[in-house]
Amino acid sequence: MELLPEQALDQMPVTGLRGVGPRLAERLSRLGIESVGDLLFHLPLRYQDRTRLVQIAALRAGDEALVEGEIADARIGFGRRRSLRVWLTDGGAGGLLLRFFHFSNAQAAALRPGVRLRCFGEVRQGPEALEMVHPQYRSATAAEPGSTEEALTPIYPTTEGLQQSTWLALTDQALARLSAGLPELLPPGLCDGLGLPPLTEALSTLHRPPPDLPAERLRERDHPARRRLAFEELTAHQVSLRRLRRRQQQAQAPRLAGDGRLRARFLRDLPFALTAAQRRVAEEIAEDLGRPHPMLRLLQGDVGSGKTVVAALAALQAVEAGQQAAIMAPTELLSEQHWRNLHRWLAPLGLDPVWLAGRHKGRERAEVIEAIAGGTAGLAVGTHALFQDDVEFAELGLVIIDEQHRFGVHQRLRLREKGARDGRAPHQLIMTATPIPRSLAMTIYADLDLSVIDELPPGRTPVTTVALPDGRREEVIDRVRQACAQGRQAYWVCTLIEDSEALQCQAAEETERLLSAALPGLRVGLVHGRIKGAERETVMAEFAAGRVDLLVATTVIEVGVDVPNASLMIVENPERLGLAQLHQLRGRVGRGAVDSHCVLLYRAPLSRTARERIDLLRRTSNGFEIAEADLRMRGPGEVLGTRQTGELAMRIADPAADAAMLPAARHAAERILDEHPELVRPLILRWLGPKAEYGGV
Ligand code: ADP
Ligand code: MG
Repeated sequence: MELLPEQALDQMPVTGLRGVGPRLAERLSRLGIESVGDLLFHLPLRYQDRTRLVQIAALRAGDEALVEGEIADARIGFGRRRSLRVWLTDGGAGGLLLRFFHFSNAQAAALRPGVRLRCFGEVRQGPEALEMVHPQYRSATAAEPGSTEEALTPIYPTTEGLQQSTWLALTDQALARLSAGLPELLPPGLCDGLGLPPLTEALSTLHRPPPDLPAERLRERDHPARRRLAFEELTAHQVSLRRLRRRQQQAQAPRLAGDGRLRARFLRDLPFALTAAQRRVAEEIAEDLGRPHPMLRLLQGDVGSGKTVVAALAALQAVEAGQQAAIMAPTELLSEQHWRNLHRWLAPLGLDPVWLAGRHKGRERAEVIEAIAGGTAGLAVGTHALFQDDVEFAELGLVIIDEQHRFGVHQRLRLREKGARDGRAPHQLIMTATPIPRSLAMTIYADLDLSVIDELPPGRTPVTTVALPDGRREEVIDRVRQACAQGRQAYWVCTLIEDSEALQCQAAEETERLLSAALPGLRVGLVHGRIKGAERETVMAEFAAGRVDLLVATTVIEVGVDVPNASLMIVENPERLGLAQLHQLRGRVGRGAVDSHCVLLYRAPLSRTARERIDLLRRTSNGFEIAEADLRMRGPGEVLGTRQTGELAMRIADPAADAAMLPAARHAAERILDEHPELVRPLILRWLGPKAEYGGV
């Protein structure tokens, strides 16, 4: 592998630095630091200000400050713990208490009244006064005041056995080589245009802030030096995903032109007209499918927005063109629901979809597989059973994946590879009901085109959401009784403070017993994570068929089930769930024509943020608005599920906080791919590591 000479620091192992032996190298490696370049991108977590003396009277709890004063009193106290207590005054109002729990006799003797001290430490509010516990200190004389530091002192994130002094020594060495050895990997002129400093300047500012830079300014995320690095990192991620996208687009895909015959009949027979949003995204998809390169499109649409019809249109287009389509759902129940819908819609057109799930065994399974392999099945619906090794499609032109928001980038790509053969790949449509804020979508789905259904079918009455304290449980049970007496159905969702699945299930079982006792005559069903898949799906199916009135569940019911007759949902401890998750849950009701209600049964008292979040849910049913708020309040992990955030792990950038830079990063990435291919590999190596570069993903 030839190296550009100027890549030196990105490649130079830390062991090349003075003082770095195997032990230290091992510790650094634990923090992901292998090269001198990695060390340079290991930025200070914060800064201490030892540049100026602070008056004792001006101190506030929480400050880290440098103070100087005279010892007014010092004594050993025998409270709950023996400690040395030293009072420091500086002529202003009040004093500062220095406390030492560990001290030698010599120390105690030296800290006597009249001695002048200079101390640095964190100020906190003690029972009597502001105090510093174990401050750093040294003696000072009034005659020749010691000098203060020229600049802010960086504090590095560290690990056991690694002192700040070591970090300073290491970064000193790395910075000394900076101008000679760390290449600028963004195209010339780009940073200038964005008002961002060059790489080396940004790094030295952050590692060794210049004397005139105030601490407050550097603490802000939007300091240009930090933004410069975050921008490069975002750009590197975009380069990686957009490159992948370009590679995929070079593959050949069957042109699914189709003559529109099946689609026209399908639309004519449908008992409703498409919404404008459905028509728009169907158009976008149809156009993609007509091209000789694989479509890679993410279809986002809130729960109930009608994605299935759009999927059916795409599938019909494939069949019209003599190709097969596969629709994959994450659970057996969902796949069955799709299969039933599609069967109802498509059988009259002479196109009967086959269904393949884990439950199909033996002859039944063999027959389905044969229909798929022989090409007599134009449309196959199923779970991931569709993509097992012995399932071979005759002419797979289109893969549709439903509700895959919990699957990570890598899984998505693996699946895509499976469909590809000899430089040919099927078209792909991925559907999700999790509204993903645009900034996040641009980050994790940078390899996909986006289509959004931003409108619900007419005639839906929005779900009325109320929040009630736990004390009014009886009333809530009464509401369930009334709703079911009118022939409706209800969900009761149990969530727990504890993060234990066993306890969650227990609570759901307990609730089911209590509700069964309180509501004699109602058929109560129970689903939770400990109930086996097949049994769980049977209960869900009974509920869907109206043979269960009240379904007690944990959050396992979140995904995609459509029971229009269910008009009431109770959610216990809603304050424990993310907004996006609550929104998903609530989307289970309000699918029919009757007024639907969601009762958030919270445990009083609510914190202020919990109240704000619940208020937002009551005010809006717009999933995107809710997701944006969730992203702001709880970060990307809540919006996406942790699996994806792990893959998103960035060192400096934060896809939420740095969202404003994303369009520019996307643009920069495209420019790099077009005009500076030589920068692609070093950028990916620097920010995503060798796995990303050589593993292909
Ligand atoms: P989701 O986007 O959550 O997958 P579905 O595709 O399950 O939504 O659609 C929810 C319900 O709305 C289904 O019963 C479906 O038949 C119905 N539906 C879809 N589109 C329309 C429309 N344009 N007008 C009326 N009802 C529709
Ligand atoms: Mg759906």
